[in-house]
Amino acid sequence: DTADCPLIPVVGGDVRVPLVDGSETRYINLDYAASAPALEVVAAHITEVLPLYASVHRGAGYASQISTAVYENARVVVGDFVGARPKDTVIFTRNTTDSLNLLASVAPGETVVLDLEHHANLLPWLGAASGARVLRSAATLDETLTLLDAELTARPAALLAVTGASNVTGEVLPLRRLATLAHRRGTRIAVDGAQLVPHRRVDIAALGIDYLAFSGHKTYAPFGAGVLVGRSDWLDAGDPYLLGGGAVISVTLDATEWRVGPARHEAGSPNVIGVAALARALQELDTLDPVEWVAHENELRARLVSGLEALPGVSTYRIFPDLGDAVGVVSFSVAGLDSRLVAVVLSAEWGIGVRDGKFCAHPLLERLGVAGSALRASVGVGSRQADVDALLTALASILADGPSGEYELESGHWQV
Ligand code: PMP
Repeated sequence: DTADCPLIPVVGGDVRVPLVDGSETRYINLDYAASAPALEVVAAHITEVLPLYASVHRGAGYASQISTAVYENARVVVGDFVGARPKDTVIFTRNTTDSLNLLASVAPGETVVLDLEHHANLLPWLGAASGARVLRSAATLDETLTLLDAELTARPAALLAVTGASNVTGEVLPLRRLATLAHRRGTRIAVDGAQLVPHRRVDIAALGIDYLAFSGHKTYAPFGAGVLVGRSDWLDAGDPYLLGGGAVISVTLDATEWRVGPARHEAGSPNVIGVAALARALQELDTLDPVEWVAHENELRARLVSGLEALPGVSTYRIFPDLGDAVGVVSFSVAGLDSRLVAVVLSAEWGIGVRDGKFCAHPLLERLGVAGSALRASVGVGSRQADVDALLTALASILADGPSGEYELESGHWQV
């Protein structure tokens, strides 16, 4: 078995958490899709660079020079990791949401999106001055691709914005096919890689992706850095995303001359430590054998899905029955039990962290027929079989005997 131990060590793997009966247990983190734990090497790297942390780009001091080098070297690391083309720009942002808002602010024409997106890849387009069209997905992937092709043929769009992997079902969209389909109609493609980059190697040049956005905190690097990488022409022609110091060549009281390149959109003091953490995490992911990486996750996912489906009243969700590929993100419901209650009991009685709710994807949950909210378990490089088994054991017990504590619904929240 490849998945009986973590693929890469993460911090927090032996954190103890209190249980409602007064005892304590090892914390089981099954919420990687929300924020993944830091890799141990990332934590060590931060400890190393922190003493030399200083302002970047403008300071002449030694620490400023080192910090500038760390920051600019991270740009190269990120570009290399995602297979950026020589003319692509790598821009550091706060997170995926920020990256997609930035791209939406420079898109020169209409964007087409599907109804299965996280709100971060829906709302920026709906709010963009250049406008957006939302296409309802069909029952199958094949039919959806046909609809998409017809849509882009009938009414050309500047951009197609799609998720790389669903934050609800983990399903991985066929990016190369989507890129080819879009490019045939003269449309560019932007990928929300928030849930894909933490799980798979993404080579934007090889896949034909024009823009990729992702978040450090889901890619085993906390400290709040995000990335937008892609074709520089729109980014250099669009208005600066943030106005302020660092984005300009010169300012007089009458006129401002804006930079081109990443600095154009990165006004203000950047998040050097977050960016250093992200680059270090990607370097570590780079050492993984891609086949082993996917195998580790497929094994955990298969164990999770088959284990959940075997429990009475538990069902998992899929968007497309004809889409086989998926990362380690699985949403499910327990018939007759409120999702929030199940999540609270899993935490309070078993020390297991999962997510419950609508996962910032309200239109998708409606499309999936989820009444109210659902539960989501997600894994990554620091996960192992024992984590999945702990959830399955806990759920089986909750289903058989109910919660062992008393829970009351107080103003919409379950309380122990
Ligand atoms: N897209 C997807 C698919 C996501 O899962 C998330 C995070 N839940 C986001 C975008 C937004 O990421 P962030 O909160 O880091 O901006």
